[in-house]
Amino acid sequence: MIEKRQFYINGKWTDPKEGKDHQVIDPSTEEAFAVISLGGQADTDAAVAAAKAALPGWMATPVEERIACVERLIEAYQSRGEEMGETISREMGAPIDMAKTQQVGAGIFHLKNFVRAAKNFEFERPLGDHAPNDRIIHEAVGVAALITPWNWPMNQVTLKVGAAAVAGCTMVLKPSEETPLDAMHFAEMMDEAGFPKGVFNLVNGDGAGVGSQLSAHEDVDMVSFTGSTRAGKLISKSAADTLKRVHLELGGKGANVIFADADEKAVKRGVLHMMNNTGQSCNAPSRMLVQREVYDDVVDEATAVAGKLSVGPASEEGRHIGPVVNETQWHKIQDLIQKGIDEGARLVAGGTGRPEGLNKGYYVRPTVFADVTPDMTIAREEIFGPVLSITPFETEQEAIEITNDTPYGLTNYVQTQDGARLNRMARSLRSGMVEMNGQSRGAGAPFGGMKQSGNGREGGVWGIEDFLEVKAVAGWSNEAG
Ligand code: NAD
Repeated sequence: MIEKRQFYINGKWTDPKEGKDHQVIDPSTEEAFAVISLGGQADTDAAVAAAKAALPGWMATPVEERIACVERLIEAYQSRGEEMGETISREMGAPIDMAKTQQVGAGIFHLKNFVRAAKNFEFERPLGDHAPNDRIIHEAVGVAALITPWNWPMNQVTLKVGAAAVAGCTMVLKPSEETPLDAMHFAEMMDEAGFPKGVFNLVNGDGAGVGSQLSAHEDVDMVSFTGSTRAGKLISKSAADTLKRVHLELGGKGANVIFADADEKAVKRGVLHMMNNTGQSCNAPSRMLVQREVYDDVVDEATAVAGKLSVGPASEEGRHIGPVVNETQWHKIQDLIQKGIDEGARLVAGGTGRPEGLNKGYYVRPTVFADVTPDMTIAREEIFGPVLSITPFETEQEAIEITNDTPYGLTNYVQTQDGARLNRMARSLRSGMVEMNGQSRGAGAPFGGMKQSGNGREGGVWGIEDFLEVKAVAGWSNEAG
């Protein structure tokens, strides 16, 4: 059993003041393999105090030095990529090859993009030629609490830490209690990279404990949160009394609109994207909307693609999908599959229960429902498992209406060869991101949602701006330099 009870506070690994043991479970085997500590108020206070004390120094550190710290972090991260992949895989069930490439790779990708964006960012700039003595200064918001989920753990941690660091914020990270160990490796890398003490702190804990203590804390200036819409609402309420800034990256129920003229790989691509990471991605294209002329063929193809997917332990090499993260999620997904059946959707692949031959571990059968109507529970709720809903539509207008008829607005997808239609769709869909014909967003593009998918933008320049205040100065002396 791995024992990792300490927290990283003020540049040192320290024993918890109010720790409670918590077991980390391997979802492939249902066995506990590590024990960590969930902190309490005294631990939260110690971490926030360290971040507060370090703030003036870090804000005053030239941005070039802050960037150099992130560059050293990238080196440390790259040199320990294997270990990071193994840890993520074991904690949350991502198959080992996928964990080492996609999960670990996402972290390097974001950190590099922040370095590039920060090098070109004008932290101080003139307002314009019409006002030569006005300066706009972008300065750190202050102490940032970073609360992250388990599904793409390093993706989320790096999106927050990288941006906060170059912006000049000091921070307290509370990773998900499902995936604390990868975040602890990350804290070791922050230490190796030589960030000044107190700039980065890590306290493990659960949402009701450290999570809400950070959200309500008087000395925390902002919360950057990624996770469920449910927790996003609770955090906004706890943060209200101190009027701190709250940036939210929440759930999704993305539509993938397949027009009759979609390219021939569109359906397979859509199903595989849905099932990647065992359906546990906020931007998963979970509602496939299909134009009536090609509907039957698409349902057949989606059924065949899902039927060929294999499911297995995270430790096994290859392109299978792993278990879902924990028992609670497993039961939630089973209930939603059953609800799909009970509400009259047509089950064409998968179903309830474990895949054949897997009797232990939180494995789910890759599932596809056809004839899903927009009012069914499986078309409305984020399932966060390998479950795809297929719904027919007749016209472009109807596709737009169904896509937008959801409380969420994170990523939508469009498949058509008609260029004018692509751009019309991109403008009409109410989501923070629209990805078309299998093209993914470029390096440094902002990630974030509208409506109940949140209000933050992470990655690149927009990600850095989330951690900055804008100060307008009049009477600036151009002589002082
Ligand atoms: P979760 O909301 O249960 O937990 C996320 C984090 O918040 C954890 O660290 C948890 O301890 C903490 N937390 C929970 N309740 C809290 C509270 N009341 N106060 C403060 N902190 C609290 O979510 P999860 O199950 O870990 O992750 C899955 C969810 O995350 C899905 O809904 C998914 O769509 C979403 N997600 C969104 C994005 C995005 O960028 N939009 C990315 C990844 C995941």
